[in-house]
Amino acid sequence: MTLPPAAPARAASDLDRLVLSAARGFYIDGQWRSPRNDRWIDVADPATADVIASVPDADIGDAMKALDAAARAATGWRLTPPRKRSEILRRCFELMTERAELLAKLISLENGKSLPDARGEVAYAAEFFRWNAEEAVRVRGELGLAPSGQNRILVDYQPIGIAVLITPWNFPAAMATRKIAPALAAGCTCVLKPASETPLTAYALAALYEEAGVPAGVVNVVTTNTPGPVVAAMLNDPRTRKLSFTGSTMIGRELLATAARNVLSCSMELGGNAPFIVCDDADLDAALDGAMIAKMRNAGEACTAANRFYIQSGIHDAFAAGLVERMSKLVVGRAFDAGTNCGPMITAAAVAKIHRLVTDAVERGAKVLLGGHPLPGPGYFYAPTVLSEVPADAAIAREEIFGPVAPLFRFHDTDKMMTAANETEYGLVGYIYTTDLKRGFDLAGRLESGMIALNRGLVSDPAAPFGGTKQSGLGREGGVHGVLEFMEAKYIATNF
Ligand code: NAP
Repeated sequence: MTLPPAAPARAASDLDRLVLSAARGFYIDGQWRSPRNDRWIDVADPATADVIASVPDADIGDAMKALDAAARAATGWRLTPPRKRSEILRRCFELMTERAELLAKLISLENGKSLPDARGEVAYAAEFFRWNAEEAVRVRGELGLAPSGQNRILVDYQPIGIAVLITPWNFPAAMATRKIAPALAAGCTCVLKPASETPLTAYALAALYEEAGVPAGVVNVVTTNTPGPVVAAMLNDPRTRKLSFTGSTMIGRELLATAARNVLSCSMELGGNAPFIVCDDADLDAALDGAMIAKMRNAGEACTAANRFYIQSGIHDAFAAGLVERMSKLVVGRAFDAGTNCGPMITAAAVAKIHRLVTDAVERGAKVLLGGHPLPGPGYFYAPTVLSEVPADAAIAREEIFGPVAPLFRFHDTDKMMTAANETEYGLVGYIYTTDLKRGFDLAGRLESGMIALNRGLVSDPAAPFGGTKQSGLGREGGVHGVLEFMEAKYIATNF
Protein backbone atom coordinates (compact mmCIF):
# COMPACT_ATOMS: atom_id res chain seq x y z
CA MET A 1 0.00 0.00 0.00
CA THR A 2 1.17 3.58 -0.64
CA LEU A 3 2.26 5.32 2.53
CA PRO A 4 0.67 8.65 3.39
CA PRO A 5 2.95 11.55 2.46
CA ALA A 6 3.15 13.23 5.85
CA ALA A 7 4.25 11.77 9.15
CA PRO A 8 4.91 13.31 12.58
CA ALA A 9 8.39 14.80 12.82
CA ARG A 10 8.63 14.58 16.61
CA ALA A 11 10.24 11.67 18.49
CA ALA A 12 7.89 8.71 18.45
CA SER A 13 5.54 8.70 21.41
CA ASP A 14 2.41 6.64 22.08
CA LEU A 15 0.43 9.47 20.52
CA ASP A 16 2.63 9.53 17.41
CA ARG A 17 2.20 5.78 17.03
CA LEU A 18 -1.55 6.13 17.39
CA VAL A 19 -1.59 8.89 14.74
CA LEU A 20 0.43 6.74 12.35
CA SER A 21 -1.72 3.70 12.88
CA ALA A 22 -4.92 5.75 12.50
CA ALA A 23 -3.65 7.08 9.16
CA ARG A 24 -3.03 3.60 7.70
CA GLY A 25 -5.84 3.72 5.14
CA PHE A 26 -9.58 3.23 4.87
CA TYR A 27 -11.04 0.68 7.23
CA ILE A 28 -13.08 -1.64 5.01
CA ASP A 29 -14.08 -5.24 5.68
CA GLY A 30 -11.74 -5.42 8.65
CA GLN A 31 -8.73 -4.36 6.56
CA TRP A 32 -6.73 -1.18 6.10
CA ARG A 33 -6.83 -0.17 2.44
CA SER A 34 -5.22 2.47 0.26
CA PRO A 35 -7.32 4.79 -1.88
CA ARG A 36 -7.76 3.66 -5.50
CA ASN A 37 -6.73 7.11 -6.67
CA ASP A 38 -3.73 7.48 -4.31
CA ARG A 39 -5.13 10.80 -3.08
CA TRP A 40 -4.76 11.82 0.57
CA ILE A 41 -6.31 14.43 2.84
CA ASP A 42 -4.02 16.44 5.12
CA VAL A 43 -5.06 16.66 8.76
CA ALA A 44 -3.80 19.72 10.66
CA ASP A 45 -3.38 20.59 14.33
CA PRO A 46 -5.58 23.70 14.71
CA ALA A 47 -3.30 24.99 17.47
CA THR A 48 -0.30 25.23 15.14
CA ALA A 49 -1.72 24.81 11.63
CA ASP A 50 0.93 22.07 11.14
CA VAL A 51 -0.02 18.98 9.14
CA ILE A 52 0.08 15.99 11.49
CA ALA A 53 -0.98 13.17 9.19
CA SER A 54 -2.76 12.34 5.98
CA VAL A 55 -5.74 10.06 5.54
CA PRO A 56 -7.06 8.56 2.30
CA ASP A 57 -9.42 10.48 0.06
CA ALA A 58 -12.19 8.14 -1.14
CA ASP A 59 -13.80 8.33 -4.53
CA ILE A 60 -17.15 6.73 -5.27
CA GLY A 61 -15.50 3.37 -6.03
CA ASP A 62 -13.83 3.26 -2.59
CA ALA A 63 -17.11 4.12 -0.88
CA MET A 64 -18.88 1.37 -2.82
CA LYS A 65 -16.32 -1.14 -1.55
CA ALA A 66 -17.21 -0.08 1.98
CA LEU A 67 -20.91 -0.46 1.21
CA ASP A 68 -20.24 -3.91 -0.34
CA ALA A 69 -18.49 -4.95 2.89
CA ALA A 70 -21.39 -3.69 5.02
CA ALA A 71 -23.80 -5.63 2.77
CA ARG A 72 -21.78 -8.85 3.03
CA ALA A 73 -21.66 -8.61 6.82
CA ALA A 74 -25.32 -7.67 7.22
CA THR A 75 -26.95 -11.10 7.53
CA GLY A 76 -24.32 -12.49 9.89
CA TRP A 77 -24.56 -9.51 12.23
CA ARG A 78 -28.34 -9.42 12.13
CA LEU A 79 -28.41 -13.09 13.16
CA THR A 80 -25.79 -12.66 15.89
CA PRO A 81 -27.65 -13.16 19.19
CA PRO A 82 -28.36 -9.89 21.01
CA ARG A 83 -26.43 -11.15 24.06
CA LYS A 84 -23.32 -11.64 21.92
CA ARG A 85 -23.74 -8.19 20.32
CA SER A 86 -24.17 -6.75 23.78
CA GLU A 87 -20.95 -8.33 25.03
CA ILE A 88 -18.97 -6.97 22.08
CA LEU A 89 -20.39 -3.49 22.72
CA ARG A 90 -19.51 -3.77 26.38
CA ARG A 91 -15.94 -4.69 25.39
CA CYS A 92 -15.80 -1.56 23.21
CA PHE A 93 -16.73 0.46 26.31
CA GLU A 94 -14.03 -1.23 28.36
CA LEU A 95 -11.30 -0.74 25.76
CA MET A 96 -12.22 2.91 25.26
CA THR A 97 -12.15 3.45 28.99
CA GLU A 98 -8.76 1.71 29.35
CA ARG A 99 -7.29 3.89 26.59
CA ALA A 100 -9.13 7.07 27.54
CA GLU A 101 -6.08 9.27 28.10
CA LEU A 102 -4.42 8.45 24.78
CA LEU A 103 -7.69 8.84 22.89
CA ALA A 104 -8.24 12.20 24.60
CA LYS A 105 -4.81 13.34 23.41
CA LEU A 106 -5.61 12.27 19.87
CA ILE A 107 -8.87 14.24 19.96
CA SER A 108 -7.04 17.29 21.31
CA LEU A 109 -4.38 16.98 18.64
CA GLU A 110 -6.68 16.94 15.63
CA ASN A 111 -9.57 19.01 17.01
CA GLY A 112 -7.70 21.41 19.29
CA LYS A 113 -10.06 21.09 22.25
CA SER A 114 -8.51 21.31 25.71
CA LEU A 115 -7.51 18.06 27.40
CA PRO A 116 -10.25 18.37 30.07
CA ASP A 117 -12.82 18.74 27.26
CA ALA A 118 -11.29 15.81 25.35
CA ARG A 119 -11.33 13.59 28.46
CA GLY A 120 -14.96 14.49 28.96
CA GLU A 121 -15.70 13.58 25.37
CA VAL A 122 -14.03 10.16 25.62
CA ALA A 123 -16.02 9.31 28.75
CA TYR A 124 -19.24 10.46 27.07
CA ALA A 125 -18.41 8.61 23.84
CA ALA A 126 -17.54 5.35 25.63
CA GLU A 127 -20.77 5.52 27.60
CA PHE A 128 -22.75 5.03 24.37
CA PHE A 129 -21.24 1.56 24.16
CA ARG A 130 -22.10 0.71 27.75
CA TRP A 131 -25.64 2.08 27.41
CA ASN A 132 -26.29 0.35 24.09
CA ALA A 133 -24.77 -2.92 25.33
CA GLU A 134 -27.60 -2.80 27.86
CA GLU A 135 -30.20 -1.77 25.27
CA ALA A 136 -29.20 -4.52 22.81
CA VAL A 137 -30.84 -7.18 24.98
CA ARG A 138 -33.86 -5.06 25.99
CA VAL A 139 -35.62 -4.48 22.67
CA ARG A 140 -39.18 -5.64 23.22
CA GLY A 141 -41.99 -6.39 20.79
CA GLU A 142 -45.70 -6.02 21.47
CA LEU A 143 -48.66 -8.37 21.51
CA GLY A 144 -52.25 -7.21 21.71
CA LEU A 145 -55.79 -8.25 20.94
CA ALA A 146 -57.30 -6.53 17.88
CA PRO A 147 -60.31 -4.30 18.75
CA SER A 148 -62.53 -6.70 16.82
CA GLY A 149 -61.51 -9.45 19.22
CA GLN A 150 -60.91 -11.71 16.25
CA ASN A 151 -57.14 -11.76 15.95
CA ARG A 152 -53.90 -10.76 17.61
CA ILE A 153 -51.65 -7.88 16.68
CA LEU A 154 -48.02 -8.83 17.01
CA VAL A 155 -45.27 -6.22 16.56
CA ASP A 156 -41.65 -7.18 16.16
CA TYR A 157 -38.70 -4.76 15.90
CA GLN A 158 -36.14 -5.64 13.28
CA PRO A 159 -32.82 -4.05 12.23
CA ILE A 160 -33.51 -1.50 9.52
CA GLY A 161 -30.56 -2.52 7.34
CA ILE A 162 -27.36 -0.90 6.14
CA ALA A 163 -26.73 2.53 7.65
CA VAL A 164 -24.65 5.42 6.29
CA LEU A 165 -23.36 7.51 9.19
CA ILE A 166 -21.94 11.01 8.72
CA THR A 167 -20.34 12.95 11.54
CA PRO A 168 -18.91 16.44 12.19
CA TRP A 169 -15.53 17.52 13.54
CA ASN A 170 -16.56 19.02 16.88
CA PHE A 171 -16.94 15.72 18.78
CA PRO A 172 -14.84 13.29 16.70
CA ALA A 173 -15.41 10.35 19.06
CA ALA A 174 -18.83 10.93 20.58
CA MET A 175 -20.70 11.76 17.39
CA ALA A 176 -19.44 8.49 15.90
CA THR A 177 -20.15 6.25 18.89
CA ARG A 178 -23.60 7.86 19.39
CA LYS A 179 -24.47 6.32 16.00
CA ILE A 180 -22.30 3.19 15.79
CA ALA A 181 -23.26 1.78 19.20
CA PRO A 182 -27.05 1.86 18.66
CA ALA A 183 -26.66 0.71 15.04
CA LEU A 184 -24.72 -2.35 16.19
CA ALA A 185 -27.06 -2.95 19.12
CA ALA A 186 -29.97 -3.00 16.67
CA GLY A 187 -28.19 -5.48 14.38
CA CYS A 188 -27.26 -3.08 11.56
CA THR A 189 -23.98 -2.83 9.71
CA CYS A 190 -22.67 0.56 8.67
CA VAL A 191 -20.32 2.83 6.77
CA LEU A 192 -19.05 5.84 8.72
CA LYS A 193 -17.82 8.97 6.97
CA PRO A 194 -16.21 11.21 9.58
CA ALA A 195 -15.37 14.88 9.03
CA SER A 196 -12.25 15.62 6.98
CA GLU A 197 -10.81 17.85 9.72
CA THR A 198 -10.87 15.13 12.42
CA PRO A 199 -10.74 11.65 10.86
CA LEU A 200 -7.96 10.17 13.02
CA THR A 201 -10.15 9.50 16.04
CA ALA A 202 -12.67 7.63 13.89
CA TYR A 203 -9.94 5.41 12.44
CA ALA A 204 -8.33 4.84 15.87
CA LEU A 205 -11.71 3.76 17.22
CA ALA A 206 -12.22 1.41 14.25
CA ALA A 207 -9.09 -0.50 15.30
CA LEU A 208 -10.47 -0.69 18.82
CA TYR A 209 -13.82 -2.13 17.64
CA GLU A 210 -11.92 -4.84 15.80
CA GLU A 211 -10.03 -5.70 18.98
CA ALA A 212 -13.33 -5.81 20.87
CA GLY A 213 -14.62 -8.49 18.48
CA VAL A 214 -16.73 -6.50 16.02
CA PRO A 215 -16.66 -8.77 12.92
CA ALA A 216 -15.14 -7.58 9.64
CA GLY A 217 -17.50 -5.46 7.54
CA VAL A 218 -19.85 -4.55 10.40
CA VAL A 219 -18.24 -1.11 10.78
CA ASN A 220 -16.43 0.44 7.81
CA VAL A 221 -14.80 3.88 7.77
CA VAL A 222 -14.01 6.02 4.73
CA THR A 223 -12.85 9.62 4.47
CA THR A 224 -13.28 11.85 1.46
CA ASN A 225 -12.62 15.36 0.24
CA THR A 226 -15.64 15.12 -2.05
CA PRO A 227 -18.43 14.24 0.39
CA GLY A 228 -21.21 15.44 -1.92
CA PRO A 229 -20.92 12.85 -4.71
CA VAL A 230 -19.44 10.12 -2.51
CA VAL A 231 -22.21 10.25 0.08
CA ALA A 232 -24.89 10.67 -2.60
CA ALA A 233 -23.65 7.48 -4.29
CA MET A 234 -24.03 5.55 -1.04
CA LEU A 235 -27.48 7.02 -0.36
CA ASN A 236 -28.62 6.23 -3.90
CA ASP A 237 -27.59 2.59 -3.59
CA PRO A 238 -30.72 0.48 -2.97
CA ARG A 239 -28.92 -1.57 -0.31
CA THR A 240 -28.69 1.47 1.98
CA ARG A 241 -31.76 1.82 4.23
CA LYS A 242 -30.71 4.40 6.79
CA LEU A 243 -29.01 7.80 6.92
CA SER A 244 -27.88 9.08 10.30
CA PHE A 245 -26.30 12.52 9.98
CA THR A 246 -24.87 15.00 12.46
CA GLY A 247 -23.78 18.34 11.10
CA SER A 248 -25.04 21.67 9.87
CA THR A 249 -28.66 22.32 8.99
CA MET A 250 -27.56 23.47 5.53
CA ILE A 251 -25.93 20.14 4.62
CA GLY A 252 -28.68 18.26 6.45
CA ARG A 253 -31.31 19.77 4.16
CA GLU A 254 -29.32 18.69 1.07
CA LEU A 255 -28.94 15.16 2.39
CA LEU A 256 -32.65 14.87 3.20
CA ALA A 257 -33.38 15.77 -0.42
CA THR A 258 -30.92 13.13 -1.66
CA ALA A 259 -32.26 10.52 0.77
CA ALA A 260 -35.80 11.14 -0.47
CA ARG A 261 -34.98 9.44 -3.78
CA ASN A 262 -34.52 6.12 -2.03
CA VAL A 263 -37.10 6.93 0.68
CA LEU A 264 -34.48 6.38 3.38
CA SER A 265 -35.17 6.55 7.08
CA CYS A 266 -33.29 9.65 8.28
CA SER A 267 -32.04 10.66 11.72
CA MET A 268 -30.75 14.22 11.57
CA GLU A 269 -28.85 16.00 14.37
CA LEU A 270 -28.41 19.53 13.05
CA GLY A 271 -27.47 23.01 14.15
CA GLY A 272 -28.61 24.96 17.20
CA ASN A 273 -29.09 28.50 18.48
CA ALA A 274 -29.66 27.86 22.17
CA PRO A 275 -31.18 30.54 24.39
CA PHE A 276 -29.80 30.72 27.95
CA ILE A 277 -32.45 32.40 30.10
CA VAL A 278 -31.68 33.78 33.55
CA CYS A 279 -34.67 35.06 35.52
CA ASP A 280 -34.42 37.63 38.29
CA ASP A 281 -34.99 34.98 40.94
CA ALA A 282 -32.17 32.69 39.71
CA ASP A 283 -29.32 31.55 41.93
CA LEU A 284 -26.60 33.77 40.47
CA ASP A 285 -23.63 31.49 41.17
CA ALA A 286 -25.45 28.45 39.82
CA ALA A 287 -26.41 30.39 36.68
CA LEU A 288 -22.81 31.49 36.17
CA ASP A 289 -21.50 27.95 36.68
CA GLY A 290 -24.07 26.69 34.18
CA ALA A 291 -23.28 29.48 31.73
CA MET A 292 -19.59 28.57 31.69
CA ILE A 293 -20.44 24.94 30.89
CA ALA A 294 -23.16 25.73 28.36
CA LYS A 295 -21.01 28.33 26.60
CA MET A 296 -17.46 27.12 27.01
CA ARG A 297 -17.57 23.34 26.73
CA ASN A 298 -15.41 22.71 23.65
CA ALA A 299 -14.56 26.45 23.53
CA GLY A 300 -18.09 27.11 22.30
CA GLU A 301 -17.82 24.68 19.38
CA ALA A 302 -20.91 22.66 20.31
CA CYS A 303 -24.38 22.42 18.79
CA THR A 304 -25.71 22.76 22.35
CA ALA A 305 -23.63 25.89 23.06
CA ALA A 306 -25.54 28.78 24.62
CA ASN A 307 -25.79 31.21 21.72
CA ARG A 308 -28.05 33.95 23.15
CA PHE A 309 -28.08 34.93 26.83
CA TYR A 310 -31.44 36.45 27.83
CA ILE A 311 -30.85 37.99 31.25
CA GLN A 312 -33.66 39.66 33.21
CA SER A 313 -32.98 43.29 34.14
CA GLY A 314 -32.82 42.78 37.93
CA ILE A 315 -29.95 40.27 37.73
CA HIS A 316 -28.42 41.44 34.44
CA ASP A 317 -25.53 43.58 35.69
CA ALA A 318 -24.43 41.11 38.37
CA PHE A 319 -24.59 38.26 35.85
CA ALA A 320 -22.60 40.26 33.27
CA ALA A 321 -19.91 41.15 35.80
CA GLY A 322 -19.69 37.54 37.01
CA LEU A 323 -19.47 36.18 33.49
CA VAL A 324 -16.72 38.63 32.53
CA GLU A 325 -14.77 37.63 35.62
CA ARG A 326 -15.04 33.92 34.86
CA MET A 327 -14.41 34.25 31.11
CA SER A 328 -11.34 36.42 31.75
CA LYS A 329 -9.79 33.61 33.83
CA LEU A 330 -9.89 31.12 30.96
CA VAL A 331 -6.49 29.95 29.80
CA VAL A 332 -6.44 30.02 26.01
CA GLY A 333 -3.80 27.91 24.35
CA ARG A 334 -2.69 24.65 22.86
CA ALA A 335 -4.41 21.69 24.47
CA PHE A 336 -1.10 20.22 25.60
CA ASP A 337 0.08 23.38 27.40
CA ALA A 338 -0.42 23.22 31.16
CA GLY A 339 -3.62 24.81 32.39
CA THR A 340 -5.26 25.28 28.99
CA ASN A 341 -9.03 25.14 29.23
CA CYS A 342 -9.92 26.94 25.99
CA GLY A 343 -8.37 25.58 22.80
CA PRO A 344 -8.23 26.95 19.27
CA MET A 345 -11.09 27.06 16.79
CA ILE A 346 -11.06 24.37 14.13
CA THR A 347 -9.99 26.52 11.15
CA ALA A 348 -9.09 30.07 10.10
CA ALA A 349 -12.52 30.26 8.45
CA ALA A 350 -14.18 29.53 11.80
CA VAL A 351 -12.30 32.43 13.41
CA ALA A 352 -13.28 34.72 10.53
CA LYS A 353 -16.95 33.79 10.94
CA ILE A 354 -16.90 34.43 14.69
CA HIS A 355 -15.25 37.80 14.16
CA ARG A 356 -17.78 38.74 11.48
CA LEU A 357 -20.61 38.08 13.96
CA VAL A 358 -18.91 40.05 16.74
CA THR A 359 -18.10 42.99 14.43
CA ASP A 360 -21.66 43.10 13.13
CA ALA A 361 -23.08 43.14 16.69
CA VAL A 362 -20.69 45.93 17.75
CA GLU A 363 -21.51 48.00 14.65
CA ARG A 364 -25.17 47.71 15.61
CA GLY A 365 -24.53 49.00 19.14
CA ALA A 366 -23.39 46.05 21.29
CA LYS A 367 -20.82 46.82 24.00
CA VAL A 368 -17.66 44.75 24.30
CA LEU A 369 -17.23 43.80 27.96
CA LEU A 370 -14.38 41.37 27.26
CA GLY A 371 -12.34 40.23 24.26
CA GLY A 372 -13.91 40.86 20.88
CA HIS A 373 -10.97 39.92 18.67
CA PRO A 374 -8.94 37.02 17.25
CA LEU A 375 -5.66 36.13 18.98
CA PRO A 376 -2.32 35.86 17.16
CA GLY A 377 -1.34 32.51 15.66
CA PRO A 378 0.03 30.20 14.64
CA GLY A 379 -3.23 28.38 15.06
CA TYR A 380 -6.79 29.66 15.12
CA PHE A 381 -7.52 31.35 18.42
CA TYR A 382 -10.28 33.74 19.44
CA ALA A 383 -10.35 35.70 22.69
CA PRO A 384 -13.09 34.74 25.18
CA THR A 385 -15.65 37.46 24.59
CA VAL A 386 -18.65 38.93 26.38
CA LEU A 387 -20.96 41.39 24.61
CA SER A 388 -23.82 43.25 26.28
CA GLU A 389 -26.80 45.26 25.06
CA VAL A 390 -26.79 43.23 21.85
CA PRO A 391 -29.60 44.42 19.57
CA ALA A 392 -32.17 41.85 18.46
CA ASP A 393 -31.39 42.40 14.78
CA ALA A 394 -27.70 41.45 15.10
CA ALA A 395 -26.69 38.46 12.97
CA ILE A 396 -25.29 36.82 16.13
CA ALA A 397 -28.89 36.36 17.34
CA ARG A 398 -29.70 34.21 14.31
CA GLU A 399 -26.50 32.34 13.42
CA GLU A 400 -24.56 29.71 15.33
CA ILE A 401 -21.46 31.40 16.78
CA PHE A 402 -19.50 28.18 17.40
CA GLY A 403 -16.88 30.02 19.44
CA PRO A 404 -16.10 31.52 22.86
CA VAL A 405 -18.45 34.48 22.54
CA ALA A 406 -21.36 35.21 24.91
CA PRO A 407 -23.85 37.85 23.66
CA LEU A 408 -26.12 39.19 26.42
CA PHE A 409 -29.65 40.45 25.72
CA ARG A 410 -31.34 42.32 28.58
CA PHE A 411 -35.04 41.55 29.07
CA HIS A 412 -37.80 43.03 31.21
CA ASP A 413 -40.93 41.28 29.99
CA THR A 414 -40.97 37.46 30.07
CA ASP A 415 -43.52 37.08 27.26
CA LYS A 416 -41.54 39.31 24.91
CA MET A 417 -38.35 37.43 25.80
CA MET A 418 -40.04 34.08 25.05
CA THR A 419 -41.12 35.36 21.65
CA ALA A 420 -37.54 36.44 20.90
CA ALA A 421 -36.10 33.16 22.22
CA ASN A 422 -38.37 31.18 19.88
CA GLU A 423 -37.72 33.45 16.89
CA THR A 424 -35.24 31.09 15.26
CA GLU A 425 -35.37 28.27 12.75
CA TYR A 426 -33.48 26.15 15.30
CA GLY A 427 -34.88 24.23 18.25
CA LEU A 428 -32.20 22.02 19.76
CA VAL A 429 -31.82 23.01 23.40
CA GLY A 430 -32.72 25.82 25.80
CA TYR A 431 -31.30 26.66 29.25
CA ILE A 432 -33.45 28.19 32.01
CA TYR A 433 -32.36 29.41 35.43
CA THR A 434 -34.99 30.22 38.05
CA THR A 435 -35.55 29.15 41.65
CA ASP A 436 -39.31 29.02 41.00
CA LEU A 437 -39.90 25.54 39.61
CA LYS A 438 -43.44 26.38 38.50
CA ARG A 439 -42.04 29.23 36.42
CA GLY A 440 -39.25 26.96 35.19
CA PHE A 441 -41.62 24.29 33.91
CA ASP A 442 -43.87 26.94 32.37
CA LEU A 443 -40.94 28.40 30.40
CA ALA A 444 -39.69 24.90 29.56
CA GLY A 445 -43.08 24.07 28.06
CA ARG A 446 -43.10 27.23 25.96
CA LEU A 447 -39.54 27.01 24.60
CA GLU A 448 -39.56 25.44 21.15
CA SER A 449 -36.71 22.98 21.53
CA GLY A 450 -36.16 19.26 21.81
CA MET A 451 -34.22 19.54 25.08
CA ILE A 452 -34.34 21.82 28.11
CA ALA A 453 -31.72 22.25 30.81
CA LEU A 454 -33.54 23.58 33.88
CA ASN A 455 -31.01 24.95 36.38
CA ARG A 456 -28.29 22.94 34.61
CA GLY A 457 -25.64 23.82 32.03
CA LEU A 458 -25.54 20.41 30.36
CA VAL A 459 -28.12 18.09 28.80
CA SER A 460 -26.00 15.43 27.08
CA ASP A 461 -26.50 11.99 28.60
CA PRO A 462 -26.39 8.68 26.71
CA ALA A 463 -29.40 7.51 28.74
CA ALA A 464 -31.54 10.45 27.53
CA PRO A 465 -33.07 11.22 24.12
CA PHE A 466 -30.84 13.85 22.48
CA GLY A 467 -32.28 15.75 19.54
CA GLY A 468 -33.96 18.82 18.21
CA THR A 469 -37.22 20.20 16.92
CA LYS A 470 -37.77 22.58 13.99
CA GLN A 471 -34.68 22.75 11.75
CA SER A 472 -32.41 21.32 14.44
CA GLY A 473 -33.26 17.83 13.39
CA LEU A 474 -35.33 14.68 13.17
CA GLY A 475 -35.18 11.72 15.52
CA ARG A 476 -33.34 11.14 18.79
CA GLU A 477 -29.99 9.65 19.79
CA GLY A 478 -29.54 7.97 23.17
CA GLY A 479 -32.09 6.77 25.67
CA VAL A 480 -34.42 4.00 24.57
CA HIS A 481 -34.99 5.97 21.37
CA GLY A 482 -31.46 5.61 19.97
CA VAL A 483 -31.67 1.91 19.11
CA LEU A 484 -35.16 2.26 17.68
CA GLU A 485 -33.83 4.77 15.12
CA PHE A 486 -32.03 1.76 13.62
CA MET A 487 -35.03 -0.59 13.77
CA GLU A 488 -38.34 -0.94 11.99
CA ALA A 489 -41.61 -2.23 13.37
CA LYS A 490 -42.93 -5.31 11.65
CA TYR A 491 -46.62 -5.98 12.31
CA ILE A 492 -47.93 -9.50 12.02
CA ALA A 493 -51.70 -10.06 12.12
CA THR A 494 -52.34 -13.54 13.40
CA ASN A 495 -55.02 -15.88 14.65
CA PHE A 496 -53.97 -18.23 17.42
P1 NAP B 1 -21.05 20.09 8.17
O1 NAP B 1 -20.25 21.02 7.35
O2 NAP B 1 -22.50 19.99 7.90
O3 NAP B 1 -20.35 18.67 8.00
C1 NAP B 1 -20.82 17.53 8.70
C2 NAP B 1 -20.42 16.30 7.94
O4 NAP B 1 -21.06 16.30 6.66
C3 NAP B 1 -18.93 16.18 7.66
O5 NAP B 1 -18.56 14.84 7.72
C4 NAP B 1 -18.82 16.71 6.26
O6 NAP B 1 -17.70 16.25 5.55
C5 NAP B 1 -20.09 16.16 5.65
N1 NAP B 1 -20.52 16.86 4.45
C6 NAP B 1 -20.23 18.12 4.07
N2 NAP B 1 -20.83 18.39 2.89
C7 NAP B 1 -21.50 17.28 2.53
C8 NAP B 1 -22.30 16.93 1.41
N3 NAP B 1 -22.55 17.79 0.43
N4 NAP B 1 -22.82 15.69 1.37
C9 NAP B 1 -22.59 14.81 2.36
N5 NAP B 1 -21.84 15.08 3.44
C10 NAP B 1 -21.30 16.30 3.53
O7 NAP B 1 -20.92 20.40 9.72
P2 NAP B 1 -19.61 20.64 10.56
O8 NAP B 1 -19.08 21.99 10.26
O9 NAP B 1 -18.70 19.47 10.41
O10 NAP B 1 -20.19 20.58 12.04
C11 NAP B 1 -20.74 21.67 12.69
C12 NAP B 1 -22.24 21.61 12.61
O11 NAP B 1 -22.71 20.39 13.17
C13 NAP B 1 -22.90 22.70 13.43
O12 NAP B 1 -23.98 23.24 12.71
C14 NAP B 1 -23.38 21.97 14.68
O13 NAP B 1 -24.45 22.58 15.33
C15 NAP B 1 -23.75 20.64 14.10
N6 NAP B 1 -23.77 19.62 15.15
C16 NAP B 1 -24.98 19.16 15.55
C17 NAP B 1 -25.03 18.23 16.59
C18 NAP B 1 -26.34 17.70 17.08
O14 NAP B 1 -26.34 16.70 17.78
N7 NAP B 1 -27.47 18.31 16.75
C19 NAP B 1 -23.85 17.76 17.17
C20 NAP B 1 -22.64 18.26 16.71
C21 NAP B 1 -22.61 19.19 15.69
P3 NAP B 1 -16.39 17.17 5.40
O15 NAP B 1 -15.82 17.29 6.75
O16 NAP B 1 -15.53 16.43 4.47
O17 NAP B 1 -16.84 18.50 4.86
